[in-house]
Amino acid sequence: MDGRNELTAWDRDHFFHPSTHMGMHARGETPTRVIRSGEGVYITDTNGKTSLDAFAGLYCVNVGYGRQKIADAIAEQAKNLAYYHAYVGHGTEASITLSKMIIDRAPEGMSKVYFGLSGSDANETNIKLIWYYNNVLGRPEKKKIISRWRGYHGSGVMTGSLTGLHLFHNAFDLPRAPVLHTEAPYYFRREDRSQTEEQFSQHCADKLEEMILAEGPDTIAAFIGEPILGTGGIVPPPAGYWEKIQAVLEKYDILLVADEVVTGFGRLGTMFGSDHYGMKPDLITIAKGLTSAYAPLSGVIVSDRMWQVLLQGSDKLGPIGHGWTYSAHPICAAAGVANLELIDELGLVENAGSTGAYFREQLAQAVGDHPHVGDVRGDGMIAAVEFVEDKDDRTFFDPARKIGPQVSAALLERGVIGRAMPQGDILGFAPPLCMTREETDIVVAAAASAIKSVFA
Ligand code: PMP
Repeated sequence: MDGRNELTAWDRDHFFHPSTHMGMHARGETPTRVIRSGEGVYITDTNGKTSLDAFAGLYCVNVGYGRQKIADAIAEQAKNLAYYHAYVGHGTEASITLSKMIIDRAPEGMSKVYFGLSGSDANETNIKLIWYYNNVLGRPEKKKIISRWRGYHGSGVMTGSLTGLHLFHNAFDLPRAPVLHTEAPYYFRREDRSQTEEQFSQHCADKLEEMILAEGPDTIAAFIGEPILGTGGIVPPPAGYWEKIQAVLEKYDILLVADEVVTGFGRLGTMFGSDHYGMKPDLITIAKGLTSAYAPLSGVIVSDRMWQVLLQGSDKLGPIGHGWTYSAHPICAAAGVANLELIDELGLVENAGSTGAYFREQLAQAVGDHPHVGDVRGDGMIAAVEFVEDKDDRTFFDPARKIGPQVSAALLERGVIGRAMPQGDILGFAPPLCMTREETDIVVAAAASAIKSVFA
């Protein structure tokens, strides 16, 4: 057996993959692709096949693959000090520097960073801080969290409950925690097709207010949302959405969490999606782009307004009973510092805005008129193509036909990686922010050809 086949066998026998059909994979009905290296926007597998990764891993390799500067920073940190914890006031040069760099880039009014390892654990931290906050304020009933259908916030017990996708609930008895889901701001799929974007945004805000009143405003602690829906279908908010939602939240003294795991550090052509859409969050979740996934690191950015209440709490309650062994891990923090420097040095936030706009225009031009393309949408360097059975009636394909996965497979055959989003026939793109116009043209040509072939 050569090394490659041996690896494939070990993979089938021993590797329990996330988000994978277990039976099909064990039986060898789904491919094992062993990735060996990456450079720029390309990855190469052990068969020597190279693909243009137009999803940046899982929307995370913002600076692209193979950046020497980040590799050097990781190596240097590992040699000098591989680990020390952050408990009881300890820090490292890297973790303290990174917290300062994050606040310098964050929206106005943000003051502290609590570090974790994944987007999921950062959202767990958010919920605990929200509960702590209301306990300090003497409001023990104000604990429920409102999320949205099609929101994605992780796959832990609490964060899987916040996630509004059935795949992440089914067979796990979720949602379990005090979590409610309100309407997704999905203009393309709105029921009343006569509504303008503004009218649909008002409808979403009205639905939210109805839910708050039905539950009792004194029981609702917070609202969590991604500035642009990500895993739920890559759906930008309709005009006026965040303004109208925030007006309702303010009226009932409900905190806002902006989950910027995908949008933080440049994806929308601004450092943060909150600034892009005029959101004024109390908490911001960050992960992915913080290190461009060169090392696992996440964080919760806490507003000064909320911090003042947490401070009062510590005087009553003592040290906060919440911590991870690997919080602010120095190797990950060193990767974060080098990554944020690189984003600035290479002008990647600007490139996400300008090349992203070019990408979406080209994509819309190339595939928008196809009889089975219902919608081409996105913002900055993130985009989606949604397929419909009938364009005029806006009817959708039977999910059993797996149109989305078929298109992404045809795209891969053409050397480009896009993602079949988990709910609906939607092909998603979230390329590295360093993608050039020439690389964009390759993605668009492959997408047009893949779509044509699937519907031929
Ligand atoms: N929030 C959002 C918006 C995400 O997109 C993700 C991951 N795709 C998460 C949270 C969870 O992050 P992780 O997978 O690192 O736990």
